Parts: sequence; structure tokens; C-alpha cells
Amino acid sequence: MDITPLMNDGYDGEPAKRVLHYMLGHKEKGHPILGIYCGYAPIELIQAMGIVPAVLCAFSKVPIVSAEAVLPANLCPLIKSSYGFILEGTCPFFAMSEAVIAETTCDGKKKMFELAAEVKPMHVMDLPQLPDEAEALNNWTVMIRKLQRFLEDTFHRRATDRDIESSIQNTNRKNRMMRKIFDYAAMHPPVINRQEIYDAGFLALPATADEMLPILEPLLESLERRVAQGFHYGAWDSPRVLVTGCPVGGDALKIFKIIEACGGLVVAPDACTGIKAFMGEIEENTPDPVGAIAKRYLEIPCACMTPNKRRLSALSQMIEKFKPDAVVDFVLTACHSYNVESYKVGRHVRSHHGLPFLKIESDYSDNDEGQIRTKIEALFEMIAN
Ligand code: SF4
Ligand code: SF4
Repeated sequence: MDITPLMNDGYDGEPAKRVLHYMLGHKEKGHPILGIYCGYAPIELIQAMGIVPAVLCAFSKVPIVSAEAVLPANLCPLIKSSYGFILEGTCPFFAMSEAVIAETTCDGKKKMFELAAEVKPMHVMDLPQLPDEAEALNNWTVMIRKLQRFLEDTFHRRATDRDIESSIQNTNRKNRMMRKIFDYAAMHPPVINRQEIYDAGFLALPATADEMLPILEPLLESLERRVAQGFHYGAWDSPRVLVTGCPVGGDALKIFKIIEACGGLVVAPDACTGIKAFMGEIEENTPDPVGAIAKRYLEIPCACMTPNKRRLSALSQMIEKFKPDAVVDFVLTACHSYNVESYKVGRHVRSHHGLPFLKIESDYSDNDEGQIRTKIEALFEMIAN
């Protein structure tokens, strides 16, 4: 099934190229582009101001060698790749962005942002990392208001509370549609595959509901047709895998590809690059729409938070919905937050859900594909016995 037929522009191409085409279309119309790096970027506020958010490149091993001339080699590949793209000038989204916003999530990233700020106007938001503290929500709301002022000064655009409310409702509509699509992955066997979920998410993240509806409505109709025709992926006994952990894209997609090559089905890619970005609702019709946005984003269960209790409850909900046979925690090399948290995640998966759990620590190289494959094969053998 082709999930990239139209975005009201007649363009038909693979997701990465069509997102580029989508951004260029906005650029040609004179719409300002803002680079973003992280799941904490409040897209609703950005869109309410008529600014287009562009997710910046971070998933290729190619620019890492350039980055390592400046950054230490023993740093997370996502940070090195992001900075390498900036140094080499090979991220088209960074090139077309007039400014970039970022958040103080992990140490490596925030120090890299200081270097990136030498190349492009950069606004860094101070993200509270103890989300359950009484003042955290207020502090984060202040940060989002400061972002609003930065965007007003940089782009000379304004958004009223009404514009922001409308943008919130737009995101909720888009995310509800996306969750309907994920329901087809929860079927047994699944009716949509991991690549299709990933591609839909890649397109949906920077787009508005109005832009996505012409894509998502036919996609849902195609999925319904598949159900009617009895089409599905894999077999009844194919191992169903939930992949949690660090964001996955580009060269890190090897984790999904190896699971699939070993006969498994990735039914739930749970990360900021997967299903996580479309979960939850932003409260509508509140007297303070910026506060409502702040509340929703502070609930993101990223490992940079401590304690990160919401990650375990969100994981439990996903396990109940997608009914995996195993959970794989994908940790990027030198990502201390996700690596340390993996122990608690594994304990939770085993003790609360009685499921096998496997941590895979890797980078963007292909050197360890054989080792990963051996571990996945052993995991599937355990499930079969
Ligand atoms: S994992 Fe955390 S730091 Fe990374 S993109 Fe997601 S929210 Fe941001
Ligand atoms: S994967 Fe970990 S170390 Fe890398 S940028 Fe994300 S939070 Fe930071």
C-alpha cells in the first residue's frame, strides 16, 4: 500500500523526499521554517504562529566523522550526527530554517547546541527535569511563553489565545487519526507493518491535521479493505515485538530490520520517532492554552526526567494494547539516561507483564549487526519454547 499519495500537491515520492517537498512548498509560499530537534518542541504554538516546524537530520552515520573533529568520539551518535549535518551543511531542513529551537534534555545535546548556535539563531528552552515537583509545570509554562516571545521577535508573527486553541484542537484531531492507524498494528496478526507506521508518523509530525487528512483518510480506508480481504503481515505465531528506548531513524533502523529479518513483527515502535509522538491529548477550551500545551509536553516520558514514572505506566498501556511477545529496549551508545533507566524498564516488563526483555546497545555503524542478530534469534527461540 502506498501511504504517500497526496498532500494536496500531487507529489508522489518516498516520505523523506516528500517531507522535503512539503517544506519547500511552504518556503516558496513565504512561510517561515523553524528547525526542531526533540519531542519537547511545542508544535502547536509554532503552527499557531504560521511557522512550519522542520525536524532536523540526526540519523545518518555519514556526517559523524566530521563531527568527531570537534566533539568527543564517545558521545551519543544522534548528537554527533546532528552536529555533523550542521558542519557539513547537508541537512536541507537546517539550511531552510531561519532559526532552531532546542531543549535542555541531556548534557551532550545542550553542549552541542552551544556550538550549533554559532551557525544559526538558536533558542534553548530550560526543561524542568523533575516533572512531579510542584513548580515544574509553572516553570515550563514560563519557558513556552519565552519561546513565544522569541518567535514573535524573530519571525514578526503573533498568535492569539484563540489561534493557539485552534492549533491544539488541530493536533488532537491529527493524533486521534494516527492512533486509529496504530490500532491496525494491535490486531493479531497486524494489518499494518512497521515501515508504514513509521512513514505515516514521519509525514504527520510536522504537518497539520488539515494537511494530513487527505493522506490519513484514504490510508484508513485501505486498512479497512485489508481487514475485509483478510490481509495481514506475518503469521499467527510470528513473534510480536515492542521496541522502546532512544529515537530510531536512518542508520539506527537496523534494529527493526534485524528483528524483521529474524521473522519478528515490530508491532509497536515506541519512541519519539514512533508512536509516542502521537499519544495523549492536550486539554481543550481551557482559559490558558499555553499552560495546556506545557502540561501535555511535561508528561512526555523521556529518560531525561527523574523519576520517570510515566514511562513505566505508558509502557504498560502499550503492552496491554499491542500484546507483544517481547520488549526490546534500544539504547544508543553513550546515552546514559536511557541506558541506566533500562534496568528499571526491564524489571517492570518482566515482573509486571511476565515478558522477555532484551536491551540492545548500539550506534549507527553496521559492525554489530551479526551480534544483534544472534541476540534477537536467541530471544525468539526463548519465546517459541
Ligand atoms: S528521547 Fe527525549 S531527548 Fe530524545 S527526542 Fe525524545 S523527548 Fe527529546
Ligand atoms: S539518545 Fe540519549 S544521549 Fe542521545 S540525544 Fe537522546 S537523550 Fe541525549
